[in-house]
Amino acid sequence: MLDLSTPQNVNQTLKRAFNRGLVLDALRPGPASRLAIHRRTRIRLTTVGELVDEMLGANLLTECGSLPRGEGERGRPELLVGLNLDGPYALGVSMDRERLRAGRVNLAGEMLASHELAVAAPDQPSRVVQQIAEAVAAVLPGGAEPLYRCLGLGLSVPGILDTDAGRVIQATAFRSLDEGAPLVQRVREATRIEHVVIGNVANAHLSAERLYGAAAGVKDAVLVLLEPGQIGAAILADGRPLRGAMEASAELGHFKIEPGGPLCACGGRGCLETFIGWSYLRRELIDRGRCDLAEANAEGGLNEFWSSPKAAVASLRDGALQRIGRAVGNLVNLTRPTLVLLSGSLAAHSDAVVIPLKRQIAREAMRPFAERLEVKASALGPHAGVLGGASLVLQQVFAIPQVAAV
Ligand SMILES: [Zn+2]
Repeated sequence: MLDLSTPQNVNQTLKRAFNRGLVLDALRPGPASRLAIHRRTRIRLTTVGELVDEMLGANLLTECGSLPRGEGERGRPELLVGLNLDGPYALGVSMDRERLRAGRVNLAGEMLASHELAVAAPDQPSRVVQQIAEAVAAVLPGGAEPLYRCLGLGLSVPGILDTDAGRVIQATAFRSLDEGAPLVQRVREATRIEHVVIGNVANAHLSAERLYGAAAGVKDAVLVLLEPGQIGAAILADGRPLRGAMEASAELGHFKIEPGGPLCACGGRGCLETFIGWSYLRRELIDRGRCDLAEANAEGGLNEFWSSPKAAVASLRDGALQRIGRAVGNLVNLTRPTLVLLSGSLAAHSDAVVIPLKRQIAREAMRPFAERLEVKASALGPHAGVLGGASLVLQQVFAIPQVAAV
């Protein structure tokens, strides 16, 4: 229980929480002795000892043997402690209109179990919640108390959210999810997991990249989430994720890039996302005399569009990549990052997507920014979305409290 009854107690509590975050963060690269933690964090050695004992008791840390002593060295060997990788775990769920994925993740970001379901009825919230509970149940550890050591469940949702209320404000892929009781409350009831949090899918990906990927230690970055027919972004500015008045991605897909262009699902016209949607691409293929390719359904057609080497498709894809590159270039000019991370399933297409898009971004961003910019694909792989959901919980474990200046 936090004792915030006096200013001295507030100071002590904040200092302890701050130091606890520093110790956990110092152990993310691997086990270390108390002395090494003291050197890395500059926290007093006696305080490190107290914090480590406290976290060993809470099962967050584990003893990992001792440093081998050099020849002729005397005294007690230095005992090593590390993050307890068999102990506390976080659950993550990522969802899009087609698939729902769940995973169980340890403190090092390793996927211990994963499960995937086809979304049965995206417009029926009760069915969606039921499927979330099914997917979560499939990744829980066996035994009498599967939720023992569960730190919580993070839901990575494509949409605009009220994270404080645990509510969806608008999710075009799940049209009725904004109705009725808040999503977090429903999932809590269906899974019996007390700590449930939600975050926008692009922000969740960025959170995973900060904890376990290429954005670790980076202060200014843009993550571009590329899925067939969908594009979003998340911004890290001066070491903090950029949040507006609502939890959403930086809505890159709704950058207006052509006045009077095609009608978008958001109600606007000429949004970037309309130019990578199947109805637009299908029409273009028909206009180019490629009715054979246009006969696919939306999912199959979009997959073909992003990977096919056929010339008609490749030239259409070049047009889409030019538009995406222009939008990302504008975002780079606006936020001046040192890193643009390409994430999502399309980032796995190196030749068809990543390499040409890098070229486009370099062309569109202002030269001084482009020269200092690294653009690369995420290395977190196909589990990045689930890891993103889990990292919404894990980031709270590793959080170093930010104290606003007054
Ligand atoms: Zn739009």
